Amino acid sequence: MSLFDKYSAMFPLSEREYGKALELFPGGVCHDIRRFEPFPFVTDSAEGAYLQTIDGVTLLDLWCGHYGNILGHASTETAAALREAAENGTHTGTLNEQQIKLASLIKSAVSEMELMRFCTSGTEATMYAVRTAKAYTGRELIVKIEGGWHGANSELSYDIKPPFNRLTGTGGTISLPFNNMEATADVLEKVGDNAAAIIIEPVIGAGGGIPAKKEYLQMLREFCDRTGTVLIFDEVITGFRFRFGSVSPLLGVTPDMFTMGKIIGGGLAIGAYGGRREIMRTITDKKIVVGGGTFSASPVTMNAGFNTLSTLKKADYSLLNSAGDNIRERIKTTVCKYTDKACVTGFGSFFFLHFLNEVPQEVTCRPSRLLPAMDSNTERLFKIAMILNGVFTMHSGGALSFAHLKTEKLSDTVIKAYENSLEAVFDERRQ
Ligand code: PLP
Repeated sequence: MSLFDKYSAMFPLSEREYGKALELFPGGVCHDIRRFEPFPFVTDSAEGAYLQTIDGVTLLDLWCGHYGNILGHASTETAAALREAAENGTHTGTLNEQQIKLASLIKSAVSEMELMRFCTSGTEATMYAVRTAKAYTGRELIVKIEGGWHGANSELSYDIKPPFNRLTGTGGTISLPFNNMEATADVLEKVGDNAAAIIIEPVIGAGGGIPAKKEYLQMLREFCDRTGTVLIFDEVITGFRFRFGSVSPLLGVTPDMFTMGKIIGGGLAIGAYGGRREIMRTITDKKIVVGGGTFSASPVTMNAGFNTLSTLKKADYSLLNSAGDNIRERIKTTVCKYTDKACVTGFGSFFFLHFLNEVPQEVTCRPSRLLPAMDSNTERLFKIAMILNGVFTMHSGGALSFAHLKTEKLSDTVIKAYENSLEAVFDERRQ
Protein backbone atom coordinates (compact mmCIF):
# COMPACT_ATOMS: atom_id res chain seq x y z
CA MET A 1 0.00 0.00 0.00
CA SER A 2 1.31 3.46 -0.83
CA LEU A 3 1.81 6.03 1.93
CA PHE A 4 -1.17 8.03 0.68
CA ASP A 5 -3.36 4.89 0.71
CA LYS A 6 -2.30 4.11 4.27
CA TYR A 7 -3.08 7.70 5.23
CA SER A 8 -6.57 7.51 3.67
CA ALA A 9 -7.21 4.28 5.56
CA MET A 10 -6.16 5.94 8.82
CA PHE A 11 -8.31 9.06 8.41
CA PRO A 12 -11.65 8.01 6.82
CA LEU A 13 -13.76 10.53 8.76
CA SER A 14 -11.35 13.34 8.00
CA GLU A 15 -11.50 12.52 4.29
CA ARG A 16 -15.29 12.73 4.40
CA GLU A 17 -15.27 16.06 6.26
CA TYR A 18 -12.63 17.48 3.95
CA GLY A 19 -15.01 16.76 1.08
CA LYS A 20 -17.51 19.08 2.79
CA ALA A 21 -14.84 21.69 3.49
CA LEU A 22 -13.95 21.81 -0.20
CA GLU A 23 -17.49 22.98 -0.92
CA LEU A 24 -17.15 25.77 1.63
CA PHE A 25 -13.60 27.11 1.46
CA PRO A 26 -11.21 27.61 -1.47
CA GLY A 27 -8.88 24.63 -1.19
CA GLY A 28 -10.93 23.42 1.76
CA VAL A 29 -9.06 25.59 4.27
CA CYS A 30 -8.84 29.16 5.60
CA HIS A 31 -5.05 29.36 5.49
CA ASP A 32 -3.07 27.85 2.61
CA ILE A 33 -0.47 26.39 4.91
CA ARG A 34 -3.10 24.08 6.43
CA ARG A 35 -3.67 22.22 3.17
CA PHE A 36 -1.61 19.18 2.23
CA GLU A 37 -1.97 16.10 0.09
CA PRO A 38 -3.85 13.85 -0.11
CA PHE A 39 -6.09 15.78 2.35
CA PRO A 40 -5.59 17.38 5.75
CA PHE A 41 -6.84 15.45 8.77
CA VAL A 42 -9.57 17.16 10.78
CA THR A 43 -8.75 18.00 14.38
CA ASP A 44 -11.16 17.23 17.14
CA SER A 45 -9.24 18.49 20.15
CA ALA A 46 -5.79 19.32 21.41
CA GLU A 47 -4.09 19.07 24.75
CA GLY A 48 -0.49 19.60 25.81
CA ALA A 49 1.80 18.41 23.03
CA TYR A 50 -0.87 16.35 21.28
CA LEU A 51 -3.63 16.67 18.71
CA GLN A 52 -6.57 14.31 18.48
CA THR A 53 -8.26 13.89 15.10
CA ILE A 54 -11.93 13.14 14.54
CA ASP A 55 -10.80 9.66 13.48
CA GLY A 56 -9.51 9.08 17.00
CA VAL A 57 -5.85 9.31 16.03
CA THR A 58 -3.47 11.02 18.47
CA LEU A 59 -0.50 12.91 17.04
CA LEU A 60 2.52 14.54 18.65
CA ASP A 61 2.14 18.08 17.38
CA LEU A 62 5.19 20.00 16.17
CA TRP A 63 3.08 22.77 14.66
CA CYS A 64 1.63 23.95 18.00
CA GLY A 65 -0.98 26.27 16.49
CA HIS A 66 1.34 28.05 14.02
CA TYR A 67 4.05 27.92 16.75
CA GLY A 68 1.90 30.06 19.03
CA ASN A 69 1.18 27.63 21.86
CA ILE A 70 4.52 27.56 23.61
CA LEU A 71 2.93 26.19 26.80
CA GLY A 72 1.14 23.50 24.81
CA HIS A 73 -2.51 23.22 23.84
CA ALA A 74 -5.30 24.00 26.28
CA SER A 75 -2.90 25.40 28.85
CA THR A 76 -4.21 26.22 32.30
CA GLU A 77 -3.09 29.82 31.68
CA THR A 78 -5.36 30.18 28.67
CA ALA A 79 -8.20 28.30 30.33
CA ALA A 80 -8.11 30.69 33.31
CA ALA A 81 -8.38 33.69 30.98
CA LEU A 82 -11.32 32.14 29.16
CA ARG A 83 -13.11 31.33 32.41
CA GLU A 84 -12.68 34.87 33.60
CA ALA A 85 -13.93 36.24 30.30
CA ALA A 86 -17.01 34.05 30.47
CA GLU A 87 -17.97 35.90 33.64
CA ASN A 88 -16.62 39.36 32.96
CA GLY A 89 -17.06 39.73 29.23
CA THR A 90 -14.82 38.97 26.31
CA HIS A 91 -14.75 42.34 24.69
CA THR A 92 -15.61 45.86 25.73
CA GLY A 93 -13.97 48.15 23.23
CA THR A 94 -12.68 50.33 26.07
CA LEU A 95 -9.32 50.90 27.68
CA ASN A 96 -8.88 48.05 30.12
CA GLU A 97 -6.56 47.08 32.93
CA GLN A 98 -5.62 43.80 31.30
CA GLN A 99 -3.92 45.54 28.37
CA ILE A 100 -1.89 47.68 30.73
CA LYS A 101 -0.76 44.58 32.58
CA LEU A 102 0.24 42.71 29.42
CA ALA A 103 2.01 45.68 27.86
CA SER A 104 3.91 46.33 31.10
CA LEU A 105 5.07 42.72 31.17
CA ILE A 106 6.18 42.87 27.53
CA LYS A 107 7.98 46.14 28.15
CA SER A 108 9.71 44.73 31.20
CA ALA A 109 11.24 42.13 28.87
CA VAL A 110 11.73 44.29 25.76
CA SER A 111 12.57 47.72 27.12
CA GLU A 112 13.10 49.10 23.60
CA MET A 113 9.35 48.76 23.05
CA GLU A 114 8.91 52.09 24.78
CA LEU A 115 5.44 52.51 23.31
CA MET A 116 3.35 49.81 21.70
CA ARG A 117 -0.07 49.02 20.35
CA PHE A 118 -1.99 45.78 20.27
CA CYS A 119 -3.91 44.48 17.28
CA THR A 120 -5.40 41.13 16.39
CA SER A 121 -2.81 39.43 14.17
CA GLY A 122 0.80 39.47 13.13
CA THR A 123 -0.38 40.57 9.70
CA GLU A 124 -1.87 43.72 11.18
CA ALA A 125 1.20 44.28 13.34
CA THR A 126 3.55 44.34 10.36
CA MET A 127 1.09 46.42 8.33
CA TYR A 128 0.82 49.04 11.07
CA ALA A 129 4.56 49.01 11.80
CA VAL A 130 5.34 49.75 8.19
CA ARG A 131 2.67 52.42 8.03
CA THR A 132 4.10 54.07 11.14
CA ALA A 133 7.62 53.98 9.67
CA LYS A 134 6.35 55.59 6.47
CA ALA A 135 4.64 58.39 8.37
CA TYR A 136 7.69 58.87 10.60
CA THR A 137 10.17 59.13 7.73
CA GLY A 138 7.89 60.68 5.13
CA ARG A 139 9.13 58.00 2.69
CA GLU A 140 7.23 55.33 0.79
CA LEU A 141 9.72 52.59 -0.09
CA ILE A 142 9.76 49.41 2.00
CA VAL A 143 12.65 46.94 1.97
CA LYS A 144 12.06 43.33 2.99
CA ILE A 145 13.87 40.02 2.72
CA GLU A 146 13.44 37.50 -0.08
CA GLY A 147 11.34 34.68 1.28
CA GLY A 148 10.29 36.72 4.33
CA TRP A 149 6.73 36.09 5.44
CA HIS A 150 5.16 38.95 7.37
CA GLY A 151 1.55 37.87 7.07
CA ALA A 152 -0.92 38.33 4.30
CA ASN A 153 -0.94 42.09 3.89
CA SER A 154 -0.47 43.07 0.26
CA GLU A 155 2.43 45.45 0.74
CA LEU A 156 4.66 42.79 2.27
CA SER A 157 3.45 39.86 0.16
CA TYR A 158 6.26 40.57 -2.26
CA ASP A 159 9.06 38.15 -3.16
CA ILE A 160 7.78 35.51 -0.77
CA LYS A 161 8.67 32.73 -3.17
CA PRO A 162 11.16 32.38 -6.01
CA PRO A 163 11.81 33.64 -8.59
CA PHE A 164 12.86 36.72 -6.65
CA ASN A 165 12.69 40.10 -8.35
CA ARG A 166 14.46 42.24 -5.76
CA LEU A 167 14.70 45.68 -7.32
CA THR A 168 12.09 45.30 -10.00
CA GLY A 169 9.29 45.27 -7.47
CA THR A 170 6.30 47.45 -7.99
CA GLY A 171 4.12 49.10 -5.41
CA GLY A 172 6.96 50.44 -3.32
CA THR A 173 8.45 47.21 -1.94
CA ILE A 174 11.80 45.67 -2.82
CA SER A 175 13.72 42.77 -1.35
CA LEU A 176 17.17 41.75 -0.14
CA PRO A 177 18.76 38.28 -0.26
CA PHE A 178 18.89 36.94 3.29
CA ASN A 179 22.34 36.78 4.90
CA ASN A 180 24.03 37.64 1.60
CA MET A 181 26.24 40.58 2.53
CA GLU A 182 27.56 41.45 -0.90
CA ALA A 183 24.31 41.32 -2.86
CA THR A 184 22.50 43.15 -0.06
CA ALA A 185 25.10 45.92 -0.04
CA ASP A 186 24.57 46.35 -3.81
CA VAL A 187 20.82 46.74 -3.42
CA LEU A 188 21.16 49.07 -0.43
CA GLU A 189 23.52 51.31 -2.32
CA LYS A 190 20.79 51.87 -4.89
CA VAL A 191 18.19 52.38 -2.16
CA GLY A 192 20.16 55.15 -0.45
CA ASP A 193 17.98 57.27 1.79
CA ASN A 194 14.74 56.51 -0.02
CA ALA A 195 13.42 53.75 2.21
CA ALA A 196 11.05 54.17 5.14
CA ALA A 197 11.94 50.83 6.69
CA ILE A 198 13.76 47.55 6.41
CA ILE A 199 11.72 44.72 7.86
CA ILE A 200 13.40 41.41 8.66
CA GLU A 201 12.68 38.28 10.68
CA PRO A 202 15.81 37.85 12.83
CA VAL A 203 15.31 34.10 12.47
CA ILE A 204 13.57 33.68 9.14
CA GLY A 205 10.57 31.43 9.72
CA ALA A 206 8.55 30.32 6.73
CA GLY A 207 11.62 31.14 4.62
CA GLY A 208 13.66 28.31 6.12
CA GLY A 209 14.18 28.58 9.87
CA ILE A 210 17.60 30.20 9.59
CA PRO A 211 19.01 32.80 12.00
CA ALA A 212 20.34 36.01 10.49
CA LYS A 213 24.12 36.33 10.78
CA LYS A 214 25.21 38.91 13.31
CA GLU A 215 27.30 40.78 10.74
CA TYR A 216 24.34 40.83 8.38
CA LEU A 217 22.10 42.45 10.98
CA GLN A 218 24.91 44.83 11.88
CA MET A 219 25.18 45.87 8.25
CA LEU A 220 21.44 46.61 8.15
CA ARG A 221 21.70 48.48 11.45
CA GLU A 222 24.53 50.65 10.15
CA PHE A 223 22.69 51.33 6.91
CA CYS A 224 19.56 52.38 8.81
CA ASP A 225 21.54 54.65 11.14
CA ARG A 226 23.29 56.28 8.21
CA THR A 227 20.17 56.84 6.10
CA GLY A 228 17.49 57.46 8.72
CA THR A 229 15.68 54.25 7.80
CA VAL A 230 13.60 52.46 10.45
CA LEU A 231 14.86 48.94 11.21
CA ILE A 232 11.96 46.65 12.08
CA PHE A 233 12.45 43.16 13.49
CA ASP A 234 9.43 41.03 12.76
CA GLU A 235 9.37 38.89 15.88
CA VAL A 236 5.91 37.44 15.42
CA ILE A 237 7.53 34.00 15.63
CA THR A 238 10.71 34.75 17.56
CA GLY A 239 9.30 37.01 20.30
CA PHE A 240 9.33 35.03 23.59
CA ARG A 241 10.23 31.87 21.65
CA PHE A 242 13.93 31.53 22.54
CA ARG A 243 14.10 33.61 25.70
CA PHE A 244 11.80 35.79 27.76
CA GLY A 245 11.67 38.71 25.34
CA SER A 246 13.10 39.53 21.95
CA VAL A 247 15.64 37.29 20.24
CA SER A 248 17.70 40.39 19.40
CA PRO A 249 20.11 40.19 22.38
CA LEU A 250 21.06 36.69 21.21
CA LEU A 251 21.88 38.04 17.75
CA GLY A 252 23.59 41.20 18.95
CA VAL A 253 21.61 43.90 17.13
CA THR A 254 18.72 46.06 18.34
CA PRO A 255 16.07 47.33 15.92
CA ASP A 256 14.04 50.56 16.11
CA MET A 257 10.72 48.74 16.04
CA PHE A 258 9.42 45.25 16.80
CA THR A 259 6.37 43.34 15.72
CA MET A 260 5.06 40.50 17.83
CA GLY A 261 2.17 38.06 17.80
CA LYS A 262 1.51 34.34 18.33
CA ILE A 263 3.01 33.52 21.78
CA ILE A 264 2.11 36.83 23.44
CA GLY A 265 -1.60 36.10 22.89
CA GLY A 266 -1.54 32.88 24.92
CA GLY A 267 -3.35 30.99 22.18
CA LEU A 268 -5.73 33.77 21.19
CA ALA A 269 -5.56 36.10 18.20
CA ILE A 270 -3.04 38.89 18.76
CA GLY A 271 -0.49 41.19 17.22
CA ALA A 272 1.61 43.98 18.72
CA TYR A 273 4.02 46.51 17.37
CA GLY A 274 6.13 49.01 19.15
CA GLY A 275 9.49 50.61 19.49
CA ARG A 276 11.20 53.88 20.08
CA ARG A 277 8.95 56.51 21.64
CA GLU A 278 9.83 59.09 19.02
CA ILE A 279 8.74 56.77 16.19
CA MET A 280 5.61 55.46 17.89
CA ARG A 281 4.50 58.99 18.77
CA THR A 282 4.03 59.61 15.08
CA ILE A 283 0.74 57.78 15.50
CA THR A 284 -0.69 60.54 17.64
CA ASP A 285 1.40 63.43 16.38
CA LYS A 286 0.58 62.86 12.74
CA LYS A 287 -2.83 61.32 13.42
CA ILE A 288 -2.21 58.31 11.20
CA VAL A 289 -4.65 55.45 11.27
CA VAL A 290 -3.00 52.59 13.07
CA GLY A 291 -3.92 50.32 15.93
CA GLY A 292 -7.53 50.23 14.96
CA GLY A 293 -9.60 47.10 14.88
CA THR A 294 -12.72 46.19 16.79
CA PHE A 295 -11.05 43.42 18.73
CA SER A 296 -7.69 45.03 19.48
CA ALA A 297 -6.64 44.63 23.13
CA SER A 298 -9.72 42.60 24.06
CA PRO A 299 -9.54 41.70 27.75
CA VAL A 300 -9.78 37.97 27.11
CA THR A 301 -6.73 37.98 24.83
CA MET A 302 -4.83 40.35 27.08
CA ASN A 303 -5.45 38.04 30.03
CA ALA A 304 -4.46 34.91 28.13
CA GLY A 305 -1.29 36.66 27.05
CA PHE A 306 -0.56 37.97 30.53
CA ASN A 307 -1.07 34.57 32.16
CA THR A 308 1.11 32.90 29.54
CA LEU A 309 3.94 35.42 29.77
CA SER A 310 3.81 35.31 33.57
CA THR A 311 4.49 31.58 33.41
CA LEU A 312 7.16 32.03 30.74
CA LYS A 313 8.94 34.57 32.91
CA LYS A 314 9.67 31.77 35.38
CA ALA A 315 10.31 29.10 32.74
CA ASP A 316 13.71 27.70 31.91
CA TYR A 317 14.12 28.43 28.21
CA SER A 318 17.49 26.69 28.15
CA LEU A 319 15.67 23.36 28.54
CA LEU A 320 13.46 24.07 25.56
CA ASN A 321 16.32 25.35 23.42
CA SER A 322 18.61 22.46 24.25
CA ALA A 323 15.86 19.92 23.53
CA GLY A 324 15.55 21.54 20.08
CA ASP A 325 19.33 21.56 19.58
CA ASN A 326 19.50 17.91 20.47
CA ILE A 327 16.71 16.90 18.10
CA ARG A 328 18.18 19.00 15.29
CA GLU A 329 21.57 17.31 15.64
CA ARG A 330 19.98 13.88 15.74
CA ILE A 331 17.93 14.60 12.62
CA LYS A 332 21.16 15.55 10.83
CA THR A 333 22.75 12.25 11.78
CA THR A 334 19.64 10.32 10.84
CA VAL A 335 18.96 11.91 7.48
CA CYS A 336 22.49 11.37 6.14
CA LYS A 337 21.90 7.64 6.34
CA TYR A 338 19.31 8.09 3.61
CA THR A 339 20.40 11.03 1.47
CA ASP A 340 22.91 13.84 1.18
CA LYS A 341 20.43 15.93 -0.78
CA ALA A 342 18.95 17.46 2.33
CA CYS A 343 19.78 19.98 4.98
CA VAL A 344 18.66 20.67 8.50
CA THR A 345 18.08 24.20 9.76
CA GLY A 346 16.67 25.83 12.86
CA PHE A 347 17.52 27.61 16.04
CA GLY A 348 16.75 26.76 19.65
CA SER A 349 13.43 24.95 19.82
CA PHE A 350 13.01 25.11 16.02
CA PHE A 351 14.14 22.39 13.64
CA PHE A 352 13.42 21.86 9.96
CA LEU A 353 14.50 19.31 7.39
CA HIS A 354 14.66 20.38 3.75
CA PHE A 355 14.75 17.86 0.94
CA LEU A 356 16.64 19.07 -2.11
CA ASN A 357 17.26 17.86 -5.64
CA GLU A 358 20.97 18.51 -5.26
CA VAL A 359 23.58 18.43 -2.51
CA PRO A 360 23.37 21.82 -0.80
CA GLN A 361 26.35 24.18 -0.92
CA GLU A 362 25.70 26.70 1.81
CA VAL A 363 22.52 26.70 3.79
CA THR A 364 23.01 29.87 5.73
CA CYS A 365 23.10 32.33 2.87
CA ARG A 366 19.63 31.89 1.50
CA PRO A 367 16.42 30.40 2.80
CA SER A 368 17.12 26.82 1.86
CA ARG A 369 13.42 25.98 1.64
CA LEU A 370 13.22 28.36 -1.25
CA LEU A 371 16.07 26.98 -3.26
CA PRO A 372 14.82 26.19 -6.74
CA ALA A 373 16.26 22.75 -6.12
CA MET A 374 13.77 21.96 -3.41
CA ASP A 375 12.40 18.46 -3.65
CA SER A 376 8.76 19.03 -2.86
CA ASN A 377 7.72 15.49 -3.83
CA THR A 378 9.84 13.98 -1.08
CA GLU A 379 8.66 16.63 1.36
CA ARG A 380 5.04 15.84 0.55
CA LEU A 381 5.53 12.12 1.14
CA PHE A 382 7.58 12.71 4.27
CA LYS A 383 4.82 14.72 5.90
CA ILE A 384 2.42 11.84 5.42
CA ALA A 385 4.96 9.26 6.59
CA MET A 386 5.52 11.25 9.78
CA ILE A 387 1.80 11.42 10.46
CA LEU A 388 1.58 7.66 9.96
CA ASN A 389 4.33 7.47 12.59
CA GLY A 390 2.38 9.64 14.99
CA VAL A 391 4.02 13.04 14.49
CA PHE A 392 2.54 16.12 12.81
CA THR A 393 5.26 18.28 11.22
CA MET A 394 5.48 21.56 9.37
CA HIS A 395 8.24 21.94 6.77
CA SER A 396 9.41 18.48 7.81
CA GLY A 397 10.05 19.72 11.33
CA GLY A 398 8.54 22.25 13.65
CA ALA A 399 8.80 23.67 17.11
CA LEU A 400 8.69 22.40 20.65
CA SER A 401 6.51 23.72 23.43
CA PHE A 402 7.13 23.39 27.16
CA ALA A 403 4.41 20.72 27.10
CA HIS A 404 6.65 18.62 24.85
CA LEU A 405 9.26 18.51 27.58
CA LYS A 406 6.81 16.47 29.66
CA THR A 407 6.74 13.76 26.99
CA GLU A 408 8.81 10.81 28.09
CA LYS A 409 11.79 10.14 25.81
CA LEU A 410 10.75 13.02 23.55
CA SER A 411 13.91 13.08 21.48
CA ASP A 412 13.92 9.27 20.97
CA THR A 413 10.26 9.32 19.99
CA VAL A 414 10.75 12.09 17.44
CA ILE A 415 13.91 10.56 15.98
CA LYS A 416 12.30 7.13 15.72
CA ALA A 417 9.50 8.73 13.69
CA TYR A 418 12.08 10.45 11.45
CA GLU A 419 13.98 7.19 10.97
CA ASN A 420 10.85 5.17 10.13
CA SER A 421 9.51 7.88 7.86
CA LEU A 422 12.74 8.35 5.93
CA GLU A 423 12.89 4.59 5.46
CA ALA A 424 9.31 4.50 4.21
CA VAL A 425 9.69 7.50 1.91
CA PHE A 426 12.91 6.39 0.24
CA ASP A 427 11.51 2.90 -0.04
CA GLU A 428 8.42 4.24 -1.82
CA ARG A 429 10.52 6.51 -4.04
CA ARG A 430 12.61 3.51 -5.15
CA GLN A 431 9.52 1.64 -6.30
N1 PLP B 1 5.26 37.68 10.70
C1 PLP B 1 5.80 36.45 10.78
C2 PLP B 1 7.28 36.31 10.93
C3 PLP B 1 4.99 35.32 10.71
O1 PLP B 1 5.52 34.10 10.74
C4 PLP B 1 3.58 35.49 10.60
C5 PLP B 1 2.68 34.34 10.54
O2 PLP B 1 3.03 33.22 10.46
C6 PLP B 1 3.07 36.79 10.52
C7 PLP B 1 3.92 37.87 10.59
C8 PLP B 1 1.60 37.01 10.39
O3 PLP B 1 0.97 36.70 11.58
P1 PLP B 1 -0.58 36.30 11.58
O4 PLP B 1 -0.66 34.95 10.92
O5 PLP B 1 -0.95 36.30 13.04
O6 PLP B 1 -1.29 37.33 10.80
